[in-house]
Amino acid sequence: MTQSAATSVRQPLTLEKITVREGRIELVVCLADGCYQKTDPTLIAACLKRYPTLADHACKNPRGKTFAAVMNNTSTPHLLEHLIIDAQMRSLQGVASHEDTYLMGTTEFLPGDPLRAHVIVSYYDDLVGLAACKDACEFLNACLIQRATQS
Ligand SMILES: [Zn+2]
Repeated sequence: MTQSAATSVRQPLTLEKITVREGRIELVVCLADGCYQKTDPTLIAACLKRYPTLADHACKNPRGKTFAAVMNNTSTPHLLEHLIIDAQMRSLQGVASHEDTYLMGTTEFLPGDPLRAHVIVSYYDDLVGLAACKDACEFLNACLIQRATQS
């Protein structure tokens, strides 16, 4: 079987659709394969190096009140949601007019489709929000590719 290099570089995670609405960005996140669906402690350790406040995020989940309660075993789109929020919060540091800014998000897999999730994140500035989506997606893809080559 031959496969050209160009067709084999499909990213683990693709932002299939991006919709900017009033106060929130809605993403359809597509996974290239089921092997990219879940986080693990190694992946999270890599993310914490670049997104150090990730674990402290408020997060509605069955196991606790922060993202730390589930981050080592959750879906990668849920991780992406928190990476996007973290990136936006970091860009706000030291901006006095945004001291009270509170950003939140939700992640839900599309019914009957284990490879597609609907991620919604709020933003305070649409361009900062979009840049955070792009950066977080690129970073997570790099981590997932590294994990795939190591296992
Ligand atoms: Zn969460």
